[in-house]
Amino acid sequence: MARLVMKFGGTSVGDVERIQNVARKVKQEVDNGYQVAVVLSAMSGTTNQLVGYAKEIAPLHDAREYDTIVAAGEQITVGLLSIALQELGVPARSWLGWQIPIRTDAIHGSARIAEIETTDLLNRMDQGMVAVVAGFQGLGPDNRITTLGRGGSDTSAVAVAAAIGAERCDIYTDVDGVYTCDPRIVKTASKLDRISYEEMLEMASLGAKVLQTRSVELAMVHKVRLQVRSSFEENNQDGPQGKNDTPGTLVCDEDEIVEKAIVSGIAYSRDEAKITVTRVPDTPGVAASIFGPLADAAINVDMIIQNVSEDNHTDMTFTVPKSEFERAMKVLEDNKPDINFVELKHDPDVVKVSVIGIGMRSHAGVAQKMFAALAEKGINIQVISTSEIKVSVLIASEYTELALRALHNTYDLDAA
Ligand code: ASP
Ligand code: MG
Repeated sequence: MARLVMKFGGTSVGDVERIQNVARKVKQEVDNGYQVAVVLSAMSGTTNQLVGYAKEIAPLHDAREYDTIVAAGEQITVGLLSIALQELGVPARSWLGWQIPIRTDAIHGSARIAEIETTDLLNRMDQGMVAVVAGFQGLGPDNRITTLGRGGSDTSAVAVAAAIGAERCDIYTDVDGVYTCDPRIVKTASKLDRISYEEMLEMASLGAKVLQTRSVELAMVHKVRLQVRSSFEENNQDGPQGKNDTPGTLVCDEDEIVEKAIVSGIAYSRDEAKITVTRVPDTPGVAASIFGPLADAAINVDMIIQNVSEDNHTDMTFTVPKSEFERAMKVLEDNKPDINFVELKHDPDVVKVSVIGIGMRSHAGVAQKMFAALAEKGINIQVISTSEIKVSVLIASEYTELALRALHNTYDLDAA
């Protein structure tokens, strides 16, 4: 019998009525003949509240106890859904992370899944029981509860899907799929029927917050097909590609995508801060002297440019996550004697805008089109970076909306 994982996010299980709605959706898939494992988040707001309690007592607290506290939200929802299913006559039971167990490493607060023991789980599923699994939680090597990082129940769902060999992992959320751009900013954005893992990975890491980035990585590695869909729509409608298709956005291998768009979507991230290290000696080893200490401090540097050198000196500009900005500045100041710069300039009011598409691999001119469109609007590009399937630019954050709309139009993504 084919297996299916259904994952519901915090808003989808936000109150008792919604949990009953989830139970009906699960029953439908059981009636369709699937063996179902459900993975749940905590009710929306719960995890934040729990984090808040811990911080109130001690801003810097024992990470193991943090995990014990914040994992509690999921314990409530899995129990509630199990009884809601039982009320509908569907046999179901809850599973906490440690009961399966979902084994993780020891990095409390952002643990990685190492292994899922499926024997017991599958036995029960074979007996016709829906497995209701708490997302976000795991069991560390020291037998203590771990959590997978905020938004981690997406990753739990994908990992469970891979472990039980599910045909698909449906991610039910409060949006009905992945869009060409943020629909709150670009009104003409349209839902994508399909998107490749690689594109979704770029979209997720660039701020399209539909899926946790790590869940997409995991799905790509294990080739788990992900369907992003709304929990507030009827389940029984046909998808854009007919009867056997589903209505949301399918995140899948690019072999499953016939029409490879040159640009599939435009993402943006306000999570970058720009730093310029001025007048460093233009000699071998200078980049290492700047980025070495940042790497040692586990600060991720994203975009980098080195300016043309004048009289054997040069400026180096790069971006770091906004949350790491203060720390990055301090690391650089501390290493001033080694790096030998004159001044540190910074600008946190920047946004990274990226155009993404697997079709870029075989098409030239995508970047040029982007630069021309921004120039036409008088938007200055501060830093550029590219990869095989994306072009990113850093611009002043006040131009975010203007840039997104212009680019959306330039690449003909505006819905007809
Ligand atoms: N409840 C956790 C959080 O809010 C995990 C999740 O929802 O994915 O981050
Ligand atoms: Mg989420």
